[in-house]
Amino acid sequence: MKRTLLSLACVVVAPLAFAQAAAGPDLIITNAKVFTGDPAARFAQAIAITGDHVSAVGTNDQVAGTATDKTKRLDAKGRVNIPGFNDAHTHVCTTPAFQLPVKIESSADDVRAAVESASDETPGDMWITGVIGMKPLDDPTFNSTTLDKISHGHRVFLITHTGHAAIVNSAALQALRTNDSHDPAGGWWQRDASGRSTGKAFEYAEANLQRRWAEDVSEDEAIEDLQRWAENMARLGVTSAQVMPCLGYSRFEKFVRHASLPIRVRVIAMPNTIGDDRNTAELRDMPKPSPARSMLNVSGIKWILDGTPIERGAAMRANYEGTKENGKLNFTNEQIANMLKESVAADEQILLHVVGDRTTDVVLDAFKTSGRTDWKTRRPRIEHGDGITAEELPLIRDLGIVVVENPTHQGPFAKQRLIKSLVKAGIPVAIGSDGPPSNPFNDLERAVTNPANANEALTREEAVDAYTRGAAFAEFTEGEKGTLAPGKLADLAVLSQDIFTVSSSSIPATTSVLTIANGKVIYDAGLLKRQ
Ligand SMILES: [Zn+2]
Repeated sequence: MKRTLLSLACVVVAPLAFAQAAAGPDLIITNAKVFTGDPAARFAQAIAITGDHVSAVGTNDQVAGTATDKTKRLDAKGRVNIPGFNDAHTHVCTTPAFQLPVKIESSADDVRAAVESASDETPGDMWITGVIGMKPLDDPTFNSTTLDKISHGHRVFLITHTGHAAIVNSAALQALRTNDSHDPAGGWWQRDASGRSTGKAFEYAEANLQRRWAEDVSEDEAIEDLQRWAENMARLGVTSAQVMPCLGYSRFEKFVRHASLPIRVRVIAMPNTIGDDRNTAELRDMPKPSPARSMLNVSGIKWILDGTPIERGAAMRANYEGTKENGKLNFTNEQIANMLKESVAADEQILLHVVGDRTTDVVLDAFKTSGRTDWKTRRPRIEHGDGITAEELPLIRDLGIVVVENPTHQGPFAKQRLIKSLVKAGIPVAIGSDGPPSNPFNDLERAVTNPANANEALTREEAVDAYTRGAAFAEFTEGEKGTLAPGKLADLAVLSQDIFTVSSSSIPATTSVLTIANGKVIYDAGLLKRQ
């Protein structure tokens, strides 16, 4: 079967390459298993790179025929070569702080003890932070007053692993210039019987704190962090990341620009709601998108419309099992309708965090009643999409909505979540890590097994496709990247093992051994040096 495909694959020299044709390609990789992403010829044997782009894909002979004396040659020895991964949904939020050694399973007592010892052992001006689970959040005896007693003036900011709730002490609240006697738009503070805040912030009350906190970072610290992050991405074969930063997009864009990162970054604006309404002022001056071939781009507006099932925040049609709660939409129908209008007025893609089935109903209704018929060209995105039901698939497809899935979310909604059904229905699907942590091989393993419901698992080809071509489509760049074909950007990775044939349980152990972005080697485990 593979042989047939290879003989069908033809070699084409890209028009772009003509100018450089005399010098020939900079690099040819032969004896590879090249996943092209082209459904008509999924696999090829060899690939040539000239400048920033792919100049030929085909059989060994076809591609070797384009080489000259100056061309570097790499024998891939049968290794898999894929278009670089494009993490369609990830977060970068860094502020220097002492990280508590706590786990998602840690009890309120464990977290209390960790805060107490960190407060004894770290300098007073050091923030104390940690990723906590639901136990301290659900425990009424664990609150800002408790933290004030044990933190000796340290600022303590504990964030849940879902990123949708946090607990702060008074010192942190003061440093973050936040008044918790008042709920912001899109979020709320938990209150005791007397109406006093417990220091537990939800949704935009929490997101606004993260924004303020992120602003504390210095440029040097941010750049160092970004470089470490991007190097790690390159090692994992990620050549593009669509980042939703805690920081305002313009400051974050500046840091990324100054860091001159080896991978492509798309910065997505995540406005806050500090004040009584949504803070849309910063969306007025969003830059015009850079050409799709650039390394850095700012585009898109993201809003979080509900929470997650973990803190019972996702808005549901039915009550959460054993409770009288059915979650909550962060915004009114009118506010959601306005988000759609604003995205059109700004000519920006809209990305909506939509988890619960009730939120999905409201959002689809907002698109239906928007009076517009051109959504397909605007490619609105639903992030996560856990609550999408089978009867809504035709409408989602007809509206042209792109769904960005996070296969590592194997929590409470994973049993019902549709992935394969979306692909079958012809809905554009992309995969994102929702990191940190980001590891495309973990995501792939989950996508192809989907342990909570194997019926919705993707094939390996579908999963890689969603992480490359699908993710490019989700950012309007499929003309430039996401597949390996002449003229496409030379963004690719040679992998340590064959992710199409190894057992699914060993997929997470995969790494890249050679990552190329924009035609430049950005990670080499020794492959080229050894030649
Ligand atoms: Zn996210």
